[in-house]
Amino acid sequence: MNIDDIKNISVIGAGNMGHQISLQCAIKGYHTVCFDISDEQLKKAEGFADSYLPGRVAKGKMAEDDAKAARSRIRFTKDLEDAVKEADYVIEAAVEVLELKRKIFADIDKLAPAHAILATNSSAIVSSMIVDVTTRPEKVLNLHFFNPALVMKLVEVVQGPHVSDETAKISMELCKRLDKVSVHVKKEVKGFLLNRILLKLFEEAEWIQEMGVASVEDIDKACVYGAGHPMGPFTLMDLTGIDLAYTMAMENFKESGDPAKLPKPGMVEHYIKKEFGQKTGKGWYDYTKK
Ligand code: NAD
Repeated sequence: MNIDDIKNISVIGAGNMGHQISLQCAIKGYHTVCFDISDEQLKKAEGFADSYLPGRVAKGKMAEDDAKAARSRIRFTKDLEDAVKEADYVIEAAVEVLELKRKIFADIDKLAPAHAILATNSSAIVSSMIVDVTTRPEKVLNLHFFNPALVMKLVEVVQGPHVSDETAKISMELCKRLDKVSVHVKKEVKGFLLNRILLKLFEEAEWIQEMGVASVEDIDKACVYGAGHPMGPFTLMDLTGIDLAYTMAMENFKESGDPAKLPKPGMVEHYIKKEFGQKTGKGWYDYTKK
């Protein structure tokens, strides 16, 4: 298979990541099907496509014909067979639960054409933990988009030991066609590439805040105005979800056994109160007032 053989993309999961990944695929010319088990999520994803595309036109960022063409290339379904039966490339972006992802991969392996590449967008579950339920190990990999997927350019292409060079190469070429910048992660390490670096940044930012050295706002300001980051670590945690940062820190602790890696009390408090950031209206910052 080569990159030109990829015409149809299926996205499994219409949540935070899936609805934007699928729309990006449609915008960049791919016939795209977005699948979810939830009517509500599908409705939300479709509603988003219906408002986002005209919004881009109104802002002068997209021609009206291109927006209409993109809209005509994406559809939403609750029928998995219908979603993947013609797929050349499948991107799974369902909830971060290993057993669920294994079930999804077993199902799509049976339903998708034999040539299709099956990717997971998981932040932490490496494809090695899933691949044994499929019959095409060389075509199963992690393709890790960043949130919000329509905006963030980076995609990590993670090549586990079972992944063929061809699959990695095609996936990197696909990212380019999706107007993304890919990096080749050659080993399956926890957190892949960028999240390993971000975790260290979050740890240090939390430590400075917990010790009363500086406020959340000032730590964010220092990173923005001193290091040129587009947003500070606390704003970023609020955007990607404090629940995700908490889970990453807990996993880091479990793996290392080092109590210094545990989430700090401030983060634990937000986690317990379910203040996960922008998606819940409150996190390090209060979005209900904005
Ligand atoms: P989300 O909770 O917003 O969406 C998950 C979706 O999966 C929901 O719409 C849910 O209805 C759907 N779902 C549940 N069971 C399903 C099934 N059996 N088949 C299909 N869909 C099912 O989660 P999210 O933030 O979009 O994350 C999705 C994946 O992307 C996770 O693996 C996560 O690790 C990864 N990821 C998340 C981010 C982020 O910042 N949120 C960034 C990169 C990667």
